[in-house]
Amino acid sequence: MKKVFLFLFIFALSCSENEYDFIIENGLIIDGSGQSSYIGTIYVKNGRIAHLEKSLSNVKAKKKIDATGKIVSPGFIDMHTHSERNSLDHPLIENYLQQGVTTMVGGNCGSSPFPINDFIDKTQSKGIGPNLALLIGHNTIRKEVMGTENRLANDDELEDMKKLVENSMKEGAFGMSPGLKYIPGAYSNTDEVVALAKVVSKNNGFYATHMREEGVSGLIESVEEAINIGRKASIPVQISHHKAVGQPMWGQSTRTLQMVDDAIKEGINVTVDQYPYTATSTSLTIIFPAWSLSGGHAALKKRLIDKKDRKKIKEGIIWNIVNDRGGSDPASIVISDYSPNPTLNGKNLAEVTMINGLNPTPSNAAEVLMDMVYVSNGRGIYHCLSEQDVEQIMKHPLVMHASDGGTVQFGKAKPHPRNYGTYPKILVEYVRDRKILSSEEAIRKMTNLPASVLGLKDRGLIKEGYWADIVIFDANKIKDNSTWDEPHQYPCGIDLVMVNGNISLEKGVA
Ligand SMILES: [Zn+2]
Repeated sequence: MKKVFLFLFIFALSCSENEYDFIIENGLIIDGSGQSSYIGTIYVKNGRIAHLEKSLSNVKAKKKIDATGKIVSPGFIDMHTHSERNSLDHPLIENYLQQGVTTMVGGNCGSSPFPINDFIDKTQSKGIGPNLALLIGHNTIRKEVMGTENRLANDDELEDMKKLVENSMKEGAFGMSPGLKYIPGAYSNTDEVVALAKVVSKNNGFYATHMREEGVSGLIESVEEAINIGRKASIPVQISHHKAVGQPMWGQSTRTLQMVDDAIKEGINVTVDQYPYTATSTSLTIIFPAWSLSGGHAALKKRLIDKKDRKKIKEGIIWNIVNDRGGSDPASIVISDYSPNPTLNGKNLAEVTMINGLNPTPSNAAEVLMDMVYVSNGRGIYHCLSEQDVEQIMKHPLVMHASDGGTVQFGKAKPHPRNYGTYPKILVEYVRDRKILSSEEAIRKMTNLPASVLGLKDRGLIKEGYWADIVIFDANKIKDNSTWDEPHQYPCGIDLVMVNGNISLEKGVA
C-alpha cells in the first residue's frame, strides 16, 4: 500500500561532506516529543536534519540562521483542513505557511478530490507550499455511485463504493473521511460506513470522522457511533473538530472525553482534533433539515416554493437556530461568504433580517435565510460553542490542534479567522497568556501527535534523519492578527518556515 505525500522539493545539490545547506544556531529547541526544551543547533542537508548537536567545529553552511532567543520546533502538521479545494488556484497556500504549517491533511468532512490520482498528478506538476496528505471522502464516493438520493445503498452500490474506496487507498489516500452531517453521507447507515471503513483498515488507513451530529440531537450518540465503527472495522478513529454545539450541550465534552478514554481502555485507537475558537464555519444549509437537501439545489428550490415543504423546512431551521448551531439567536449566525450579495458578508442573520424590514425573531430569520439560499447557498460562521469546552477538549492528551480551514484567497469574503490564526492563537492565548498548555505539550499536539496518526515516520520531530520541516518563532512576539471583523491578516512573530529543507517563508514573506 502506498500513501502519496505531495510536496514541492527543490533539491539543493552537491554539498561537500562538511558543508550544510543551513545551520540553525542556538535556538530553544522544542522537539515535538513533549520532552523539555533545550538549547541546540540544527544542521540541515539535502532536505533532512543531518545533525543535532551543540556545535560542530570546521563546518560550513550556505546559510547560517541565528535563532538565539527564539523557539525552534518541527513544522506544524494540520490534521484537519480543506486546503485542497483551492490549492491548484493558489498553490503557495500562504495562509497556512504564514502560520508555520508545513503539512496539511485534506479531503476531510466527507469531501475530497476524485479520482485521487488525477488530483495528485495535477498537484505534483504544479507544486504547492506546504506538504499535503489526502483522505478519500465518503460523500464523494457515495455521490459517484448513487448521487444525492435520500436512501440506503443496495448491495451492488455498496460493492461499487468499496471498489472506489479500495482504488483511492491504492492511489495514495491516507484514510477515509465521512461527512455524516452532510449530503449524501447523512443518508447512510452505520453498516455502510463500517463496510467501507473495513476496506480502509485493510489498506492501513484511518477513519477521520465529521460525525452525524455535534449538538443536542445526537452528539453523544455520534461519538458512540464513531467508536463503534472503530471497534467493528478495526480501524483507528480520528474525531474531527470536536465540540459541543449549542447551549443545551455545553459542558458535555466531559462526557465525550470520558467515552474516548473508555474506548482507549477497550483497545480502540481513538484520537481527536480541535480548532481553538468558539464558532464553527460551514455552509448556510447546515441548519436546513437533511431531507430537504436531497437531489441538489434545484430540488431544494422546488421544496422552498412548495407551501407544505417550506413550512417543514422552516420548522427545522427554527429548531436549529434555537437549540443547535444557531446559538439560540439569529445574531449568532454571521454570513461569511454569500456571492449574490457580498455586502451581506460580515453581517449577522439578525441584521440581515432587519435589512429585510423584519423583526429578528428566529421565525423571520428562517424566512430570510430560505430566501437567500433559494438564490444561492453560501457560508456562515456560527457562534455556538463554549470556551470551557474548548479548553477542556484542548487539554486532553489525545487531542491535537487543527484548523478546519482552507486555502483562502487573500481579501475575499469574511472567512473564519481559523484560516489565518489557529496555530499562533494557541501559542499566544492558551500557552503564553493563559497557561492552559505548556509550550512542549502544545507543540507536541501540533507535530508529533498528528504525525503518529498519519503514520509519518520521518516528520513531526526535530530529530536526526527527519525531514527538515522547521518553524522558528519568537514566543514573545508571535500573535494571531486575524479577527472576526478583519480576518484577512497574517500572524506575526514567525521568523522562518522551512519545508523539506527549503525556506518557504522568511520574516513574514513567503
Ligand atoms: Zn467537518
